[in-house]
Amino acid sequence: MEKVIILGTGPAGLTAALYAARADLKPLVIEGIEPGGQLTTTTDVENYPGFVDGIMGPELMDVMRKQAERFGTRYQTGMVESVDFKPGAHKLNLDDGTTLEAATVIIATGASAKYMGLESEQKLIGRGVTSCATCDGAFYRNMPIAVVGGGDSAMEEALFLTRFTSDITLIHRRDEFRASKIMADRVLQSDKINILWDTVVEDVLDVEKNEVTGLRLKNVKTGEQSEIEIKGLFMAIGHNPNTNPFKGQIDMDDKGYIIADNTKTNVEGVFAAGDVQDAVYRQAVTAAGSGCMAALEAERYLESKGQ
Ligand code: NAP
Repeated sequence: MEKVIILGTGPAGLTAALYAARADLKPLVIEGIEPGGQLTTTTDVENYPGFVDGIMGPELMDVMRKQAERFGTRYQTGMVESVDFKPGAHKLNLDDGTTLEAATVIIATGASAKYMGLESEQKLIGRGVTSCATCDGAFYRNMPIAVVGGGDSAMEEALFLTRFTSDITLIHRRDEFRASKIMADRVLQSDKINILWDTVVEDVLDVEKNEVTGLRLKNVKTGEQSEIEIKGLFMAIGHNPNTNPFKGQIDMDDKGYIIADNTKTNVEGVFAAGDVQDAVYRQAVTAAGSGCMAALEAERYLESKGQ
């Protein structure tokens, strides 16, 4: 039986691995379909402390991985399909049919930004289509951009982006925002944000050029089609925490985020770190911080059990 199994290789999982390895717990990290997590889909990361000139997302994850490995972290590729959490011996069933057992589990499977699902949108992710204004906003200084969504995230992203450009089109599929009034009011009062109500994106232009040049839009009430020219498309239509395998085994909120108190879940010996338990901050540095906390909590738990 493993002492610590960590699920996920984003900043939360790899920081948990670094701390668990340095505590001589010889953690086993299960690496899923997106090794390195969401940061591998971004380019320059300028807000992770310690890198004066920024660092490329994939490179940051690569060095974090190697740093954890240096102290004895082991990696195994696989997807956890289901779990059977029983304090003392938590079972994890992988997609290759094998079952792993661990005294403690740190869930750091992250969250995935929701996208509209258009083929053009998918092809241009990282080439003008992004879901992170904090990460990518500064690349669009003085350029026309669009934000899609009507919730608090869309308001926050649009308002944040006004630091860089005064040409922002906010596209929402209904005629009222879902966002809190205070956030919505700030957006409504901004002269840098032009709102298109009742509007959906039909196509992101221009896949042929391999960059974003504009959008084809449709008004859902009138059926009228139009085009706008933009350089960047910021998707803010929500996130989905990657918690499917844990449903019914652990407490989650109504959106599927794991409920954790200082990374401790309701199941003894199971901890959660990073975006899988955080719908609010969702930053690499906060994920890394909670990964550290989860490893320290796991270490304390094992110690209390004399393991
Ligand atoms: P959200 O509240 O679920 O809002 C998602 C928005 O995207 C909705 O307006 C929705 O439209 C729209 N949408 C969903 N799928 C779409 C699609 N396929 N095409 C076009 N539009 C689509 O998600 P969120 O804004 O990420 O917020 C998540 C949670 O975090 C909320 O509880 C929020 O209050 C919280 N949050 C708080 C803050 C803050 O307080 N500072 C900041 C960010 C997030 P409809 O309205 O038509 O459904």
